[in-house]
Amino acid sequence: GYAAQRGLKWHLNDGENRDADERELTLLGELDVALAQEEIFVVYQPKLALESDTIVSAEALVRWNHPTRGILSPGMFVEAAENNGRIIELTLYVLNVVLRDLVVLANSAIHISAAVNISAKLLGDSDFLGRALTMIEASGVPPSQLIFEITESAAILAPADALTSIARLRDKGVAISLDDYGTGQSSLAYLKKFQVDELKIDASFVRNVHCDGKDRILVRSTIELAHEMGIKVVGEGVEDIDCLEMLRTLKCDIVQGYLISQPLIAHRLRDFVLEHQDTYKIAV
Ligand code: C2E
Ligand code: MG
Ligand code: MG
Ligand code: MG
Repeated sequence: GYAAQRGLKWHLNDGENRDADERELTLLGELDVALAQEEIFVVYQPKLALESDTIVSAEALVRWNHPTRGILSPGMFVEAAENNGRIIELTLYVLNVVLRDLVVLANSAIHISAAVNISAKLLGDSDFLGRALTMIEASGVPPSQLIFEITESAAILAPADALTSIARLRDKGVAISLDDYGTGQSSLAYLKKFQVDELKIDASFVRNVHCDGKDRILVRSTIELAHEMGIKVVGEGVEDIDCLEMLRTLKCDIVQGYLISQPLIAHRLRDFVLEHQDTYKIAV
């Protein structure tokens, strides 16, 4: 039947999380098949630069078109992949798709950057780094068109190796972005330790920046701090125009969120960028 065909793996576990564990393991067993059968796909969320009012980049967000469960968001499988050694293959798969899509966009004279989410767990992994750099080089895409967004959710396992990785990537021209900034326990420590190009203020601080005084202080001072260090700032999760205008007032460089666009499949991203090529105007 279906389970045998997809090579599902079950394990015995008497704990109360048995069902959840089994679901996770089942998914992981299927992930290899999903990668082989191209059930994994990527959507892109545009990032709007406020000074020029143009789309300067797009963030790649992974999705799994599962044959029976429908479209799964990364929350359903990324963490499991991180904990079970599949994150390398998943990330390289996404990177490969992104490079291919950038080549297609270049054929339409679109040269925006693409951001790929990289688990902190992968940062110091020399196998990952070597394969990623080889892939980028083989694609012909200028490394300067890539941004690696590092999330704090998983701890950096080998900070010294991570430091070397970041230096190598930046040396090639790949930009480094700190994702979900402010939510981790080591945000300032990261800024002290790692040379980064961009910082993405988490949606939880951005969402109410126009109506919450405390959020405004946190966002304003984070932007000042970043700018003093030569780092660009992205506001994530921008859902309304008042929020965007406040971020503009606070000199935030880039905004991203449902107000600008939902994540789009590659050809819709192309249309979106072409539509807003000269200057971006929000339809309100
Ligand atoms: P993230 O990198 O912080 O990505 C932003 C998430 O917020 C995305 O959810 C996006 O769809 C959602 N979002 C964007 N704009 C808005 C908005 O205005 N309002 C609200 N409420 N949400 C918004 P998504 O796609 O479910 O991704 C969740 C997380 O999964 C990402 O957070 C990222 O940490 C991780 N992720 C996504 N793709 C990959 C991947 O290829 N590899 C790895 N390692 N992690 C990934
Ligand atoms: Mg991200
Ligand atoms: Mg984020
Ligand atoms: Mg996030």
